[in-house]
Amino acid sequence: MLRWRSRLIRLLSILLALLAANAFARTPLQLAASTAQVSLAPYTTFHHDETGKDDLAAARARLAGGGFQRIPGDNPSFGFQDGAYWFHLQVSNRDSPEDKWLLTQEYALSDRIDLYATYPDGRVVHASGGDHLPFDQRNIRYRHPNFWLSVPQGTTVDLMVRVQSESSMQVPLRLYAPAAFIEQSRDAQFAIGLYYGILLALFIYNLVLWLTLRDPGYFWYLFHISAFGLVLFTLNGLGFEYLWPRSAWLADHMVPLSICLALIGMQQFARIFLELKQRWRFGDRVALAIIAFFVLLGIAATQLPYRSVVPLASAAVFPCIGWILVETIVVLRRGYKPAKLFLLAWFLFLLGTGMFAAIAFNLLPKNFVTEYGVQIGSALEMLLLSIALGYRYAALRNENERIVREARDQLEHKVEQRTSELRNALGQLEDAHHRLSEFSRHDGLTDLYNRTHFREAFEHLLSEARNSRHPISLLMIDLDHFKKINDSYGHLVGDDCLRCTSNTMAEALAPHGALLARFGGEEFIAALPGMDLAQASAVAEELRQSLNRRPCVSGELVIPVSASIGVHSVDVAAKNSVESALQVADQALYAAKAEGRDCVRTL
Ligand code: GH3
Ligand code: MG
Ligand code: MG
Repeated sequence: MLRWRSRLIRLLSILLALLAANAFARTPLQLAASTAQVSLAPYTTFHHDETGKDDLAAARARLAGGGFQRIPGDNPSFGFQDGAYWFHLQVSNRDSPEDKWLLTQEYALSDRIDLYATYPDGRVVHASGGDHLPFDQRNIRYRHPNFWLSVPQGTTVDLMVRVQSESSMQVPLRLYAPAAFIEQSRDAQFAIGLYYGILLALFIYNLVLWLTLRDPGYFWYLFHISAFGLVLFTLNGLGFEYLWPRSAWLADHMVPLSICLALIGMQQFARIFLELKQRWRFGDRVALAIIAFFVLLGIAATQLPYRSVVPLASAAVFPCIGWILVETIVVLRRGYKPAKLFLLAWFLFLLGTGMFAAIAFNLLPKNFVTEYGVQIGSALEMLLLSIALGYRYAALRNENERIVREARDQLEHKVEQRTSELRNALGQLEDAHHRLSEFSRHDGLTDLYNRTHFREAFEHLLSEARNSRHPISLLMIDLDHFKKINDSYGHLVGDDCLRCTSNTMAEALAPHGALLARFGGEEFIAALPGMDLAQASAVAEELRQSLNRRPCVSGELVIPVSASIGVHSVDVAAKNSVESALQVADQALYAAKAEGRDCVRTL
């Protein structure tokens, strides 16, 4: 009874082991007449050889011992891993006329890939690829490692693939019929060409703008777009294909180096574009620290192994771009309008890059949108940034124009103010000049015209009289015994008397249109235009009587004054000088003095 039981248990355990092995085993991939291309993950099992020391025989032994397992979710992406990964599958050509197939590893950065194809006759074909071998060794000159695989109709080939890499362990294997490969690679190359075409056009366009405008924003945009273009060029295998086909060192180191350059470019571009130094000092300091970090990491990347730098650089992408978003939002909230487009651009970029990084860390499945997310996102981002730069430049120019306009308005206002002040000053000067000239024409004591002015004015009247042939006469007036007044009452009273008689004379002569002046001392002169000798004598007499009637009042004193007057009518037909006319008038005055004073005389 006990024996039966133990036999039953052994049988059951064998059955369970078989069931378990079957659960992990995979059916062979069947190539049919209609098969053009096929992803190998659903037909593949894998084993992680953590030491990386297993050879083909050891791997086969593990396979036989059930050490291989299904690929989780058929997504052959395992993140950064030590050692090597072994993949196993069987490919069987059921009825496809195609016997030559192309196996591709659709991830460009794997260091070394070894393919072992075992045929039914026991023959093992071994081929190697990856970027630690020269590009020329590839079966097809193509950015992804690839291997020709012979699978004639009716044959089943057993495939073991070993992948060892310091980069992310991504092994999306795919099998193509040659025609199908040509078609898909043409489409992929077209998409890639389109992407770099956009980048190149944006580069040249902004280069021209930078050369003409010399705005540092454009320079850092160019830096950013070039470094970022280099990252993608490296990641999708084109860098290895076209730029460093023989250098395994560059193939490894360009990934962290270009990532560092791109992040330096991004952060610096954001600093300049957002005018962070002026708008958010703290944010600017953090940005500078981030830049310093990537400069150091870039230097370290040339010295340290790829494995220690790339995960750090890839992980640092998130805080770096995250910080740019924070900067943008802060500056936007502080009212800087060009930051709006900038924010949209970085959001799109973040979305695309986030997707790509998520595949590297095996957080998202690989499909067209996630795989080309970086390209789509970054192309849109760079386009938007270029527009944003233009917008920012226009905003700067408008601001400058506003400042210039304001300065000009202020200047105009100041000039106007100065002009009016100057006009005022000129007016005052003119006034002063007028007063000065009035002052120079008048006598200070009596306020009558002085002798200098009289001469000028009389000369003018004389020439008018000569032209019009109208008569003109002169009265020479001298106060009588004036010395006595001074002697009796003092000079001040004498001055009062001079003022008083001046007023009386001015009043008496005003109705006759006379030109009256103080000739000197107590002597006066009057010109009477339009009057002949008789008329002038009558006016002189009238004047003499007015003086008699109006004694001078000085304080309490009432002082009678009289004057002797010599009259002369100028002969307008003769060309006599003013001097001689004055002399004749003076002689007439002497006659009046001689004849007893207080009288009018002619010669
Ligand atoms: P005659 O009748 O001969 O003209 O006698 P007179 O005293 O008026 O003449 P004279 O020429 O001898 O004297 C003139 C005086 O007038 C002398 C001077 O003291 C006085 N005199 C001249 N100018 C002024 C003045 O501005 N103020 C005062 N107070 N006296 C003056
Ligand atoms: Mg006198
Ligand atoms: Mg006198």
